[in-house]
Amino acid sequence: MSLISLVVPVFREERNLARFYAKVQEVVQGLPDYQWEFLFVNDGSPDNSLLELIKLSEQDPRVKVIDFSRNFGKEIALSAGVHHAKGDAVITLDADLQHPPDLIPSLVAQWEQGAEIVATIRIQSIKQAFLRKLGSTLFYWLMARISKVEMVNKTTDYRLIDKKIVKRFNCMTERSRMYRGMIDWMGYKKVYVEFVADPRDEGVAGYSYRKLIDLAINSITSFSVFPLKLAAYLGLVITGVSTPLLALALFDFIFKITALNVTPSAIIVLANMLLNGVVLMCLGFIALYIGNIHDEVTNRPLYLVKNTYNLEPGEMESLGR
Ligand code: UDP
Ligand code: MG
Repeated sequence: MSLISLVVPVFREERNLARFYAKVQEVVQGLPDYQWEFLFVNDGSPDNSLLELIKLSEQDPRVKVIDFSRNFGKEIALSAGVHHAKGDAVITLDADLQHPPDLIPSLVAQWEQGAEIVATIRIQSIKQAFLRKLGSTLFYWLMARISKVEMVNKTTDYRLIDKKIVKRFNCMTERSRMYRGMIDWMGYKKVYVEFVADPRDEGVAGYSYRKLIDLAINSITSFSVFPLKLAAYLGLVITGVSTPLLALALFDFIFKITALNVTPSAIIVLANMLLNGVVLMCLGFIALYIGNIHDEVTNRPLYLVKNTYNLEPGEMESLGR
């Protein structure tokens, strides 16, 4: 009998957890040919999420809980969950029921048919803030152009991955990470399943705009060197523009043919300003990469686990790297 792990990142979900668990039980009962493991990662929730999870883990030994020492973010919570998952397949999904558990049977069916990655596509999101929608469209548009990894628009973190993929994933050590992007990077046999997103049930979206922007920047710097190239392109363009300009100014200054009456110093000041801008921008982009290098070089553990529930000791060793 195959074991399937559900990995659920949890941040401020105290009011969703009981309902989420009930819903998942309902779905899982329709799939009696599998064993299940429910792995919740409490990502430093300030509310009572942990208490809710402990309650669930006491009722049901299949419920396992990893409690982070603080909020490390959803991407890392997902990673920790996948690191600790024992299943022959791992399904990652949100605790707020925005990723409908009703889809689990079709994910599993695709997997049984040989798919190594079953990704989901959110076809229509009711009540999604305009700015978020715009942001995500813009992000995928940009990523499609600047990165070599194929990222399909509107795919979500709600995915099933085969044990094989889990093994590869666990070998990846980068710390500025985007779960979706890393899975997409791997290739393998991938199948897409579509679903309609429900509005959030309880509580507020934990991902603030700031976090989303951080995530977008992280994915750009970890999956594309385009910003670096952009700086170079810009430098080229601006040199290309300022060189004839300077030539013209010099020509005008020496031969005084045109009626422009441009003083050379004005042009030099202008060119200087432009170049200053370019230098600053290049520095900015380079700083982004150096920031990443810094993170990688420090080689801190990816997360710290404060406690686990229903997980055997030893399972969590050295996986935070
Ligand atoms: N989440 C998390 N850490 C965070 C923010 C969110 O583990 O810092 C979890 C959250 O509990 C939920 C999932 O990630 O299960 C998606 O979060 P949310 O619903 O806030 O984001 P959105 O629906 O906007 O993608
Ligand atoms: Mg949500």
